[in-house]
Parts: sequence; C-alpha cells; structure tokens
Amino acid sequence: MAVREVVVWPDPRLRQETQVVDQVDDRVRALYRDLCDTMYAENGLGIAAIQIGDPTKMFLVEPKLAGRDENDLPVAFINPEVLWASEETQLSDEGCLSFPDIYVEVERPMRARMRAMDLDGNIFEIEGEGLLARCLLHELDHLTGKLLVDFVGPLKRQMIKRKLQKAAARAADG
Ligand SMILES: [Zn+2]
Repeated sequence: MAVREVVVWPDPRLRQETQVVDQVDDRVRALYRDLCDTMYAENGLGIAAIQIGDPTKMFLVEPKLAGRDENDLPVAFINPEVLWASEETQLSDEGCLSFPDIYVEVERPMRARMRAMDLDGNIFEIEGEGLLARCLLHELDHLTGKLLVDFVGPLKRQMIKRKLQKAAARAADG
C-alpha cells in the first residue's frame, strides 16, 4: 500500500489509452489499494487509475457518495460503461485531483446509470443523481482521456496551464 504521486495536467500520461481488465488479479488489487491510499491522502471523492500513471480501466468512488456506509472501502469500478443518462442536466463547478485548486463549470446529465465490474469480478449496476452522477461521469471521462480543460475555451485553457505551471515551479523550489 502506498500513496502515489498524482499526475497533474498537462502531463501527457493523462491522455494515454486505457486497457480493459480481463481478470481481477494481484496487480489490479494492489492498484486498488494504492488508489485508495492516494484518494484519501488527497481528499478526493473519486480517482481514476490513469491519475497515478496507470492506464487501467478502473476508478474508485468514495463509499458514502456511492451509497455505501461511510466506513466501507471505496467502491471500485472496473471496465465501466454508461447504460443511460438523463436528458435533464446540471451545471456546477467541478474539481479534479489532476488540476489542483482549479474549478471549471461543467454541464452534466442530472442522472446516469453505469455498469462495471467489482473487485470480485462481479458485474454490478449503479444509478447516480446529482453529485454522484457528476462524479461517475467525471471519472469515466478520465478513462477516455477526457479532462476538465476539454470543457473550456482556449483562453481559459491557457490561464489554467499557467496557473498549474506556476504552482509546479513553486513546489519544485520547495
Ligand atoms: Zn478528475
């Protein structure tokens, strides 16, 4: 178990093609544990494997948000796909661990239904509304390389890039 470094945009690893999981083996279980540790260390509601540089089709969602007990482990979504999304939409600011301190207004469906495989290799479905729908669709975007900056115009994109590069330079200076 280990907290891994979160890959921050514009790192090209965030655009890698992700790989389908054929079976849940020790590698996938170890990846899950690292993602749990990293998500909690960063106070994220969700995290995709690609955000720690691993292009596996998997993401995690914080248990309470996913409708479980708050003391449960984060819920793993392996090879997820959207089955249905509502016509009705919601508009709200969205953050991302790969864009520290950046918030972008994103329009998303109000409700979405998703199917995925769990850590035992079983297929399950979940329907989310509001923040859960937003979180599921945000994490799913990561698995196709889609990022917050893809929702903004070129000017705002440049602004975000400069802000993140300044923050990275400050961090490098200690
Ligand atoms: Zn994200």
